[in-house]
Amino acid sequence: MNFFDIDGFLYLLFFSVGAIIGSFLNVCIVRMPRNESVVFPSSHCPRCQAAILWFDNIPLVSFLLLRARCRACRQPIPWRYFLVELLMAGFSLWTYARFGMSWALVPALVFVAGLIIASVVDIEWRIIPDEISVGGMWAGLALSYIFPALHKGPASGILGAGAWVAVILAAVCIALYLFRMFQHKLSLEPWDRNVLLLGALFLAGQWGAFTLASLFPCCHAGLFALADALQGAVIGACALWFTGLVGEIFISKRIVTPYDFKGVVEDPEGLLKSLERDGYVDAQGNLQPAFRAVKTAAGLRLPPGCEAKRAEIFEGIQAVDEGGVMGWGDIKLMAMAGAFLGWQLVGLAFFIAPFFGAAYGLIKIIRKQDTAIAYGPFLALAFIVCLYWGEILLRRITVMYGL
Ligand SMILES: [Zn+2]
Repeated sequence: MNFFDIDGFLYLLFFSVGAIIGSFLNVCIVRMPRNESVVFPSSHCPRCQAAILWFDNIPLVSFLLLRARCRACRQPIPWRYFLVELLMAGFSLWTYARFGMSWALVPALVFVAGLIIASVVDIEWRIIPDEISVGGMWAGLALSYIFPALHKGPASGILGAGAWVAVILAAVCIALYLFRMFQHKLSLEPWDRNVLLLGALFLAGQWGAFTLASLFPCCHAGLFALADALQGAVIGACALWFTGLVGEIFISKRIVTPYDFKGVVEDPEGLLKSLERDGYVDAQGNLQPAFRAVKTAAGLRLPPGCEAKRAEIFEGIQAVDEGGVMGWGDIKLMAMAGAFLGWQLVGLAFFIAPFFGAAYGLIKIIRKQDTAIAYGPFLALAFIVCLYWGEILLRRITVMYGL
């Protein structure tokens, strides 16, 4: 590779564009979990609020020239800024190397960018912003139709099989969900109804797209890709939802304990007592209707000293309320990945992710650290493996099992 020929130039171009995108991802990582706009105001130092001048805002370069310190207040800038830019630059270059100059680059880069934001925010805040998971899912569906290159072409008859897998998996999940509701004497909330409605819409949509594509071969590529994306969203979300439901039916954890706030606040027992006083939980730790009535973290009444951890405390109780074993953030991220990768690759990622999680968990146990870990980054890692090598892995597996 020579940097003076056109190929070398393109590699350099993709690396630079990736670094610029990475710089924007940093803005999203800081502002999205705080519910701030990612467009206004322009970049400023989070410590001293000084505006960042254009020549101090050059991706990768400025961080090194400033030696990781703010020009105005000399406070250190976290290495995360540099790493995110480098990561996106590297993935951008690699994506070009893998897919070449094709339309697959657009959905692939949008997907990787979303995964980087989701992972870093999940590590720092233990939440995955809905803008990324839910917004990403809609983006994935739209991009699948416009740029079908990431999805398998209509030659693959197995696309029809995805429709049946989606229906069966969704039906099993709903049955388990109703069983759990019956077990815990819960009623169907308006929120549940919306999820079920959306699921039904997706199932109908994939069948519609598949049928339309078969009837009108002229515009089949986009429709086939859309059907695959819809199947991916349903199967991805249901696979993880199913795991959580099975775990919960056997573990049946619906009690808030001090452990849920361990490492979040200094005095978990005190926090639990005050939650009890305000009617969010009863003396046994069972959730009370008062918590259900609070819809956002901002509405939660908290004792002094817990203000800074408002979002995390809310998420903690909500995780118990919504099943405890598997967070909805991860389930929504699976739906997003399914829309980009299609049903076969998201299914493969579902089986790969636990290995990454287990390997990391093992290291934590050996180091005797708290083993509660964010699952989002492991899912993201599995999605990336499947994005670049999924097709090869699938081919190996189908050959191995003679399919
Ligand atoms: Zn500063």
